[in-house]
Amino acid sequence: MNIKNYINGKFENPIHGDYIDNYDPSVGEVYGQIPNSTNEDVEKAYEFASKAFPKWSNTTLEKRSRILIKISDLLEENLVRFAKAESIDNGKPLNLAKQIDIPRAASNFRFFGNAISQFSSESHESVGLNAVNFTLRQPIGVVGCISPWNLPLYLFTWKIAPAIAAGNCVVAKPSEVTPMTAFLLGEICNEAGLPKGVLNIVHGLGTTTGQAIIEHPNIKAISFTGGTKTGAHIARVAAPMFKKLSLELGGKNPNIIFADCVYEKMLATTVRSSFANQGQICLCGSRIFVEEKIYEKFKKDFIKKVSELKVGHPEKSDTDIGALVSAAHLEKVKSYIDIAESEGGKILFGGNKVEVSGSENGYYLQPTIIEVSDNQCKLNQEEIFGPVVTIMSFKTDEEGLSLANEVKYGLSATLWTNNLNRTMQFSKLLQTGIVWVNTWMLRDLRTPFGGVKESGVGREGGFEALRFFTEPKNICIKY
Ligand code: NAD
Repeated sequence: MNIKNYINGKFENPIHGDYIDNYDPSVGEVYGQIPNSTNEDVEKAYEFASKAFPKWSNTTLEKRSRILIKISDLLEENLVRFAKAESIDNGKPLNLAKQIDIPRAASNFRFFGNAISQFSSESHESVGLNAVNFTLRQPIGVVGCISPWNLPLYLFTWKIAPAIAAGNCVVAKPSEVTPMTAFLLGEICNEAGLPKGVLNIVHGLGTTTGQAIIEHPNIKAISFTGGTKTGAHIARVAAPMFKKLSLELGGKNPNIIFADCVYEKMLATTVRSSFANQGQICLCGSRIFVEEKIYEKFKKDFIKKVSELKVGHPEKSDTDIGALVSAAHLEKVKSYIDIAESEGGKILFGGNKVEVSGSENGYYLQPTIIEVSDNQCKLNQEEIFGPVVTIMSFKTDEEGLSLANEVKYGLSATLWTNNLNRTMQFSKLLQTGIVWVNTWMLRDLRTPFGGVKESGVGREGGFEALRFFTEPKNICIKY
């Protein structure tokens, strides 16, 4: 299926007629074409967005809210169609797309449709000076939203929904690897009555289309989720233009397990936090640190549980692990497994590509567990972003904490313990933006979401996102 850009409410071919292939990772075959848009397409999208801005930014909150909630309803009505499209485009199990990706995309619109009606600004009375200050929170204008391939519609809408709720108009680019559900979203926005030009979606490569968005002199804010290297590049381009930036980048998250945890719950959740979505979630706990007392038991039980996971075609209902997103990504992930032994690691389970019957050219890999002894090895320091976890033991709280923190990333951490004192110590001292205690990926959309160190700058979620997509202006009135 060939997809088109969505500009000013219409589906359009790219101006230069240039296309790139879109692959179905479950079979390793091209199944469609997507525009490789140039800066002329981005310019066109920008022009329509900026035309739509005066009216949209003056549209009542009630009306904006109603449209966002309508988009959410329509996504729910079209759940199966969207989930199928996401699963084919990305290789993720259809069940996962039905249970997580599409419902969450719908929640993003519903949440920000409601949140905008509760968003308020401050006033400061300058007592004794007969003056009062109040803050206006005004939309920025035209903003750019750029998202990755791992949770395609989920992360795309996590940016678009707060941007338009706050009164901005948007030029957005989904990943060129997974563009399909972003394309389908255009239809739904039209049906929900989103005015033309408020949301414009241009497809194409990062280095051409994405680059045109970040370089555009009048796109005043960029909300980006993707790799740390790309984030650094965007920061270099955007900083001299004084653009507002929100960067959600890579992770190498620790999962710290103490002997006093509720063992069965921890074990089941650790299987999920290691391998959900083929391990391609920025929040996956890819470095597992286990207290020495239970290390051997954990190792045995974890291997057993992981060996029961079924790698298979994403459409099959008993598939736990689908295909990786692309041939290039499969090779990247495999290259880390290949260096494991030279780094002193021991492959405890998995490590091989899988031939799925009837889909022999698909990008399948076994869930892989590697025991390591040196936290400084590449396997423990670099983001692999696939179904590969390392495990390592530790003796004391201090050692567990320093192993967790000795990494350049700082997105999230998971802690398994029932000791309150330890919970508080770790919560304070872990160098991450998010800490989960006795759970994983339990999300409340009101909370600040994002990382520290090389995992990013800024926070998404709740009012943080609405603050990012507005400029505060202080008004001082003397009376
Ligand atoms: P990526 O950085 O390669 O691409 C992300 C997006 O940026 C894509 O749309 C791409 O086309 C675009 N892009 C690439 N070069 C660009 C440029 N020069 N200018 C503008 N845009 C450009 O990342 P990816 O491989 O798609 O995604 C995987 C990465 O995303 C992993 O590192 C993962 O940790 C990260 N991620 C982070 C979070 C988070 O919330 N922190 C969430 C999901 C994924």
